[in-house]
Amino acid sequence: MIDPIISEDIKDISDNLDIPFFKDKEILITGGAGFLGSYLCDLFVSLGSYVSCLDNFSTSTLENIDHLTKMKNFRLLREDVSKIAIKETFNYIFHLSSRASPEDYQLHPVETLITNSVGSNETLKLAVKGNSRILFASSSEIYGDPQAIPTSEDYWGNVNPVGVRSCYDEGKRFGEALFMAYRRQYGLDIRITRIHNTYGPRIRSDGNYARALPRFIDQALKGEDITVYGDGSQTRSFCYVSDTIRGIIAAIYNDRAEGEVFNIGNPYEISILGLAEKIKELTHSTSKIVFRPLPEDDPKRRSPSILKAKKRLNWQPKISLEDGLKRTIKWFKIANQNL
Ligand code: UDP
Repeated sequence: MIDPIISEDIKDISDNLDIPFFKDKEILITGGAGFLGSYLCDLFVSLGSYVSCLDNFSTSTLENIDHLTKMKNFRLLREDVSKIAIKETFNYIFHLSSRASPEDYQLHPVETLITNSVGSNETLKLAVKGNSRILFASSSEIYGDPQAIPTSEDYWGNVNPVGVRSCYDEGKRFGEALFMAYRRQYGLDIRITRIHNTYGPRIRSDGNYARALPRFIDQALKGEDITVYGDGSQTRSFCYVSDTIRGIIAAIYNDRAEGEVFNIGNPYEISILGLAEKIKELTHSTSKIVFRPLPEDDPKRRSPSILKAKKRLNWQPKISLEDGLKRTIKWFKIANQNL
């Protein structure tokens, strides 16, 4: 489904883009039916690229891309990224496949590790074959529970290698190492973006797929209890989807990004309790905020330094948390009506 809010976001992302750079190019997006992947599909279809969207629908929904399936420059490949059967080659590859919600990936730890290791390897092999430029959607999770805030790219992390989050954290860390290994061994043109808590239209709010922000919006709109884990003093920094996508595009486009790693996130830090209160206020909800046990190994603070992306990519977020939340809440209301 594409609606006015997502169309506006896509237009905003397209503004000032070097369209000839993408037009008529073959582009592969793994995890293309997911939240961020489907934004990339919409964007590149609108720019006249030939888009191949690879997805096994383990966490994504057909609804995100069904409006594209009849377009001539779009094709859907229902495949598992760890068993890629594609024969074609691509100009640009965006490797986004992976479960991303802690409650969900902890239910599928083996698959999460395989996707980020074997799946990354299969995608990288394809990139070698086509001499493609390839971007890895890594994560703030590679820092674990960081001791340095704001966290810059040269911080090596504080990760529990055998903890409940390790399937994702170590999966993404292995993925980054593998991307760098392909660069060193095969001279592949790689770029790594460490995405920090992004949100917006199409993010899932149901069951274990839901992360804190969309779950809070859903709970607030339904008048259900808003479930804050721990005392809510842990912090996160939330980046609106169009800003995140602009960051990803800047990283694939810019020559100064080759072989480099960038934090892509909004440095504005807020406590989880503060987020719950903000969402309650913006939705005019009567929901109660309730407290539940803090999950194991939950990072205490998270906020990116984005100085490197500002300097090298001339990128920074434009949408404030308040504006991004308002857009997301509006979208959730429309999506709920369409159920
Ligand atoms: N969280 C929460 N209530 C929920 C889900 C998550 O308070 O219903 C907390 C979670 O424990 C973490 C923060 O909110 O401290 C952000 O969670 P998210 O799901 O976005 O994942 P994370 O940032 O930890 O990867």
